[in-house]
Formats: sequence, C-alpha cells, structure tokens
Amino acid sequence: MLENYTYIDFDGVILDSQKRMLERKALAGFKDQKSKEQFDLYFEYTNNHPEEWEYIINRANQINNSVDIIQKLQSLNKRIAILTKIHTLYEMKVKVRELRENRNIYVPVIFVPPGIKKYEVVIPNNQLLIDDSKKNIQEWIQHGGQGLIFDEYIDVDTDSKVKSLEFLLKR
Ligand SMILES: [Mg+2]
Repeated sequence: MLENYTYIDFDGVILDSQKRMLERKALAGFKDQKSKEQFDLYFEYTNNHPEEWEYIINRANQINNSVDIIQKLQSLNKRIAILTKIHTLYEMKVKVRELRENRNIYVPVIFVPPGIKKYEVVIPNNQLLIDDSKKNIQEWIQHGGQGLIFDEYIDVDTDSKVKSLEFLLKR
C-alpha cells in the first residue's frame, strides 16, 4: 500500500518569502501585482540580480513557528514533504540551501516549475496539502486530494483553514 505524505507549501507557509517577493518586485519597478506579464518580467530580471532571491529567501522569517514545527515533525519521523513552486533555477538552489544549511530541514523537497500545477507534479490521491493559495487548494481537492488553506492571520483554525502547522504534531 502507498504511504500518504502531508505536503507543505514553502512561500507564505514556512517563510514569509511571498510577501518579500511582492515587495521586491514592486521596488524593481514591476508594480502591477495582477499582471502575469509583470511577474514574468520580474522573474527574468532576477536572473541577472541573484541578490533578489537572497533578500526574498535567505533573509525571510518563519511564519507562526513553521520551521520549528517542521523540525519537530521530522524528528518524529512524520511523513512530510515540501511542495513548492519555483520560477528560476537560481531560486530552486537558494531554497534548497536555505532549508538544508540554515534551517536544518531535511525532508524531501519537490519543485513545481512554471506552467505546471502542484497536482500534476504530485498526484493528490487523498493526500493532504497545506498551502496559502486558495486556488492551489481548490485545484488539489478537485483532483482528489485533501487540502487546508494556511492563513497566518486567522484567530482559530476551521474545517478549511489553519493558522499554523502545529496541528500536525498532534496527528
Ligand atoms: Mg504559497
């Protein structure tokens, strides 16, 4: 029988890198946060400005103790993996280094390239995904997974939203 994993998103769940990326993107002059073209242009820009990813990832802060909780989960041998979107190969490298060298997180990391959905890289098959993107969660559930939206600002967890990864310690 296949063993189920719990998949955890990186940006906006483990580290506050999502927010930092949006800040840097606007600072670089790509201010329209709704334009796909501006995102593409900004990611292209980061290829010549690797310091963008250093700011976004290496200087990011953990959200609601997510790093500490993942370290505990791995010491308890819980089946968890990180499922994260990347936009450039350099971003991929910075993320691996950050997790392994600076955050002492050694669980599997699965990368989702541009133009591909999370549910295409990992077949949901009733497995749980925790992600701050409502869209990712909707699509994951539509393709047979279980999903919880991560929202760091809610007061209490609900059936569809969690504010921290702490509940995984109790399962
Ligand atoms: Mg995210």
